[in-house]
Amino acid sequence: MGWFDRSITKPSRATKPAKTAVRSKAGVARIERDVVVHREGEVGDYRLILAKTPSTDARIKIILDKNPSLHCLVTKQHEVFAVKPRLQSSPAQALNHLIALCKSMSDGHAVQLFYVSETIYQSYIEGLSKAQTSGIAMLDNEKINQLFLEAIRQRASDIHIRYRESEAIILFRVNQLLRPHEIVEASTAKRIITAMFNTTKGGKDFSMQQSIDTSFKYNTETGAEFMVRANSSPEKRGVTVVSRIRNIKELLPLEVAGYTANQLAHLRRVTDKHQGLLLITGPTNSGKSTTLTTIMAHIPREYAVCEVADPIEVVLPNVSHFEVANDNDSEMGRVMKDMVRQDPDYLIVGEIRSQQTAHAATSLAYAGTSVMTTMHTNSIAAAFPRAIKLGMERDDLSVEGFLNGVVSQNLVPILCEKCKRPFMHKPNMSAYDNQVKTGHYGEIFEGHQIFYRNFDGCSACRKTGIKGITLIAEVLEMTQDVRKLVACKQHYLISEYMESQGIYTKHSHAANKVMQGMFDPTLVEDKIDPFKRSNVVAALRAGAINA
Ligand SMILES: [Zn+2]
Repeated sequence: MGWFDRSITKPSRATKPAKTAVRSKAGVARIERDVVVHREGEVGDYRLILAKTPSTDARIKIILDKNPSLHCLVTKQHEVFAVKPRLQSSPAQALNHLIALCKSMSDGHAVQLFYVSETIYQSYIEGLSKAQTSGIAMLDNEKINQLFLEAIRQRASDIHIRYRESEAIILFRVNQLLRPHEIVEASTAKRIITAMFNTTKGGKDFSMQQSIDTSFKYNTETGAEFMVRANSSPEKRGVTVVSRIRNIKELLPLEVAGYTANQLAHLRRVTDKHQGLLLITGPTNSGKSTTLTTIMAHIPREYAVCEVADPIEVVLPNVSHFEVANDNDSEMGRVMKDMVRQDPDYLIVGEIRSQQTAHAATSLAYAGTSVMTTMHTNSIAAAFPRAIKLGMERDDLSVEGFLNGVVSQNLVPILCEKCKRPFMHKPNMSAYDNQVKTGHYGEIFEGHQIFYRNFDGCSACRKTGIKGITLIAEVLEMTQDVRKLVACKQHYLISEYMESQGIYTKHSHAANKVMQGMFDPTLVEDKIDPFKRSNVVAALRAGAINA
């Protein structure tokens, strides 16, 4: 979908200069009254403004072509919307109108506003209508086959089908970024969705009016096996189906997943413990269940290993797998009780989501089982209140011998080596000029060449500017100091503690990869809080070497 990427940021010199909305002093003043501008600068051909709305705390990123006309595209969670602003009496008013529009669209999500030329705007609209005419009804099975094979060929992790009254858009998530694949007629989409849900899990009758989960295996002719987990949820204008595709036999060794050597050593020590709890946390799409599965696959064969998950994604010869629906609390409670009688050396629990599961996991961890599980939080510090909310006791979490370690991770896109763009930091300029004119990254990562994503891309990266994804992580072995912080309800100081000890937090880990030219700092900040000198202390101390 070359038009999709090209259209949103291609700089245009064809439009008339002047009439700059942001550069005029009046314009900036007006923005500041509406949103809090916390960074401004020029990046290549663009002027960049990062702002926050005080009410919702949503981040707004405005990328302006240096010669803007009044045509805009807004992106939210990688979805692109074409926006034609009302004609206003002044550029500043027009910009304010657009910011108000972004705020109303954001629902708390980060949104990006791209100011584009008439030509680019038109090419986006044309691209959309071209895609609309390519939807041809085919035999359902053939269509499903074609869809999955294409997704697998592009190494997509998810297929999204957004079914609306008149049509459906199919999107692939590749390297974390969602991009449109094709638009099909509503009737075609309905047949695909119905077939997907009715042929699986005992042919349960599929209804668009209720939320349904399913999982099934998909085998290709070449012998590759994939596990597909799909969820269909009704929404106001139709239904949205998200299918996650995972190659069953492709288990990435932890050594190449993106952890640092120190983190791997910590991870090895906490997984070698024969008793206690290991929590692997992260948001959706952070690779936490992949990490857990990989750890499980490497447990030596002389140990008894049980797994309780929904669904079982990878079947291993030395593991007893128990599949339990995540939303069925009583069934989960019963299976967890069985686990006590099974007396495993290692118990892998897909995810702790209920009090019953949390209580059973606690008893087992005390009783001499090594329990490893995942939890849905965005940092190590946030894992503690979450675990307590799920029914674990602060006293347990802070006692020696119970909690062995906590991991938190995210996946971040890797820049394409062939087309990434250097950020120019000019050492002979004043600190003020560097901050204002080239953004504040120069100050944070002083002395290191920083690179940005080239949205035009090249042939090596399918015109995306992105070549793969990798982890940023924080791995914490529980120590006396950390247990004290947890016991005194000071878990929020854990990141600071780690940085002071030279242990990488996600920020330092990401900063290290920014300084190696692997990450665009703005793409990292889509996942975690903005970089500050104070949250990358460990990385700055180590420099760009791989700690
Ligand atoms: Zn490229």
